[in-house]
Amino acid sequence: MKNLFSTIFFLALIGIAGYFLYEKSIDNNPSKSEQNAANPAEQPIKEATDRIEKIEITKDSTYGALMATSGVPYELSTKIYDAAKPIYDLVKIRVGRTIELQHDKDTDEIKELRYKIDTEDELFVSRVATSSVASSSELNYSWQAELRPIPYELKLRIAAGTIETSMYQAALDSEIDIRAIIELANAFQWEIDFAMDPRVNDTFNFVYEERYLNGEYIMPGQIFAGRYVNAGEQFDVYYFEENEDNIGFFDADGNSVQKMFLKAPVAFKYISSGYTRGPRYLAAFQLFTSSHMAIDYAAAIGTPVRSVGNGTVIYAGWNNKGYGNYISVHHNGTYTTNYAHLSKIYVSYGKKVSQSDIIGAVGSTGFSTGPHLHYEMVKNGAKINPLLEVLPPGKPIKDENKDRFFAEIKKWQEMLDK
Ligand SMILES: [Zn+2]
Repeated sequence: MKNLFSTIFFLALIGIAGYFLYEKSIDNNPSKSEQNAANPAEQPIKEATDRIEKIEITKDSTYGALMATSGVPYELSTKIYDAAKPIYDLVKIRVGRTIELQHDKDTDEIKELRYKIDTEDELFVSRVATSSVASSSELNYSWQAELRPIPYELKLRIAAGTIETSMYQAALDSEIDIRAIIELANAFQWEIDFAMDPRVNDTFNFVYEERYLNGEYIMPGQIFAGRYVNAGEQFDVYYFEENEDNIGFFDADGNSVQKMFLKAPVAFKYISSGYTRGPRYLAAFQLFTSSHMAIDYAAAIGTPVRSVGNGTVIYAGWNNKGYGNYISVHHNGTYTTNYAHLSKIYVSYGKKVSQSDIIGAVGSTGFSTGPHLHYEMVKNGAKINPLLEVLPPGKPIKDENKDRFFAEIKKWQEMLDK
């Protein structure tokens, strides 16, 4: 058993290494601007432009320290900080991101600070001229902050793959950004258990946006449609915004694919490293039988464990009967789910949890042969096989909006059918 787990761990490492290599190859693509620069004859005569200073946020650095290092007077960096604060607290800047300072081309004074706070929005703190001081031509300045959506250029992409070992590996083989595959798996997470269900020759294809900035690929955006054919059975999902309260993925009939329970208590991105034995992922290695009424997911110690549904924690602590660190979530009068052998417990008795909330971490506590999650579903007091349980679909699209829905997904269906 020990060999088995070290093999899994080793293969997982290979998967991670593969991921980074893949990311790197994206970075190496020559950007459009570099290609343009190759022809100097077409370059306009250079005019003085504002200087853009890029400050990389390093480990343990703070906004104040970074500004001081860049020679920004304390009084000025405080003014910018105070202006930003109602919109974004610059104390929260993140390692690896960049602060941009725009310096005036004539005076070299700072005119603007820019910082991408996440993948969606950018903070702008700009100097704005206010009234002149009474006697002289000197201007007063104030600083104003706002968040603006990052203006990505969007390209529609259709991608497809066939499972030989795993969806993760199929994505790598087809040069699909693994982040897009993780999003695709999330769209199917109520219908397909990616540790259990995939089979050799399963196929998938999907339509999604790629986001670019200045011609450079940045990241995948919205997934509009996806199809996964699992052992001959076809699952489709279509993204649709019915109204503010009903946005998400629906099947071709307009039923929400979001169900009461997720198919698996471990997210695809943690069970996706591409190791297999035969036609099935090794990640789920012990199934529901009369003597083992649960599903076991092999995963590294510390892998996040999520609640498959909304509910209340009715047990969180040590179990003497072999379960080790153990959590029990009561979902309603019918269903309870149990999570055993955990290394960490992040919830306590009585806590309300939502679907997908991380409640603990995979471990090997209690009677356990190696790191894994032992996952049980209990229905009306009896342990049942969660993989076979049929759950009603979520909120469907209203009849009055169905025409709009069918019209919108038609183009996606045509792309998936090709
Ligand atoms: Zn078990």
